[in-house]
Amino acid sequence: MNLRIVGPTPLPPAVCEALARPMINHRGPEFAAMQARIVNSLKTYFQTAHEILLFTCSGTGGLEAAVVNLLSPGDTVVAVSIGVFGDRFAEIAELFGAQVHRLRFAWGSAADPDALRAKLDELANVRAVLITHNETSTATTNPLQELARAVHERSDALLVVDAISSLGAIHLPVDEWGVDVAVTGSQKVWMIPPGLAMLSVGPRAWEAYARAKMPRFYWDFKKMRDAMAKGQTAFTPGVNLYFGLDVALELMNAEGFENIRARHARVAQHTRDCAQAQGFELFANQAFASNTVTALKIPPGVDGKKWREVLRKEHDTVIAGGQKELTDKIVRIGHLGWVNEADIDACLHAMTAALVYVRAS
Ligand SMILES: *Cc1c(COP(=O)(O)O)cnc(C)c1O
Repeated sequence: MNLRIVGPTPLPPAVCEALARPMINHRGPEFAAMQARIVNSLKTYFQTAHEILLFTCSGTGGLEAAVVNLLSPGDTVVAVSIGVFGDRFAEIAELFGAQVHRLRFAWGSAADPDALRAKLDELANVRAVLITHNETSTATTNPLQELARAVHERSDALLVVDAISSLGAIHLPVDEWGVDVAVTGSQKVWMIPPGLAMLSVGPRAWEAYARAKMPRFYWDFKKMRDAMAKGQTAFTPGVNLYFGLDVALELMNAEGFENIRARHARVAQHTRDCAQAQGFELFANQAFASNTVTALKIPPGVDGKKWREVLRKEHDTVIAGGQKELTDKIVRIGHLGWVNEADIDACLHAMTAALVYVRAS
């Protein structure tokens, strides 16, 4: 199957084999050695010298963990949102009692750093700014470096970034840009199944942790840090996902970080070029086009659901639809992780064939 959604993504055979390995003691020496290798490699991709924590959960668990470990009820938070996942991050903080000020932008466009500056100037004592790096629902990548600069220039707020669908594929030097916590998820760029969230936690985040009063048990950063210092995890981890991640990181290290980023940029450009050449219209503002996902407008008069169904049944190809208000307006092609141009060619070819069929029927 050509699985072209934005995670889960296809798995390399070596990863599949690793996932099927017999269990080991998660409090034994083999696990400790494996976790050390994983953390060591992840630091390269996060471009951080600080702590990396892994939680057994989907990406959203990582976002919730960031919120409850850094904030107290009543804290002022600015949530920058350009789509579904930006809204979700805001909702989590709000649910746990933060005073959330949403800074929303039209779907398909990126956040404006000057608008963020203005928002920060208007509010006092902003404790944290939540930003989505790559908004998967609209296939748009925020200008995070400029947004980060705005945050640090106008406030002492923590910068917390949902990098779930970008980290490892799109440039994000966590330390250099002053990102206090960055979150990613295993089923996106990392070529392993869903079930792990990986977070970087910088020194300012640890200071905030010491003061933060939101309730937390499973997500407690310090519990996890202390356990990881002993080569363990706070609670039983998804051991086979670690097997997979260990091998996937080996593959990534062999390819090289620069090459991985260049491949994602190249395949994304190829997707956009070929989609347009085949008559499709791109959805997002192309100045901020994502390198991990591309959104295409559903051609007028076409039933998007039917189109995807024919694609799945007749062409063994699965793409994503739109979310929320974009449900009947766009389709999305994932090009992240284990992907090259040939996967995209096959996908677009099938999309065109399926479209001919849907229009004729
Ligand atoms: C996939 C994704 C999420 C949600 O991750 P889950 O693993 O489904 O919980 C959040 N934010 C972004 C940007 C994503 O791409």
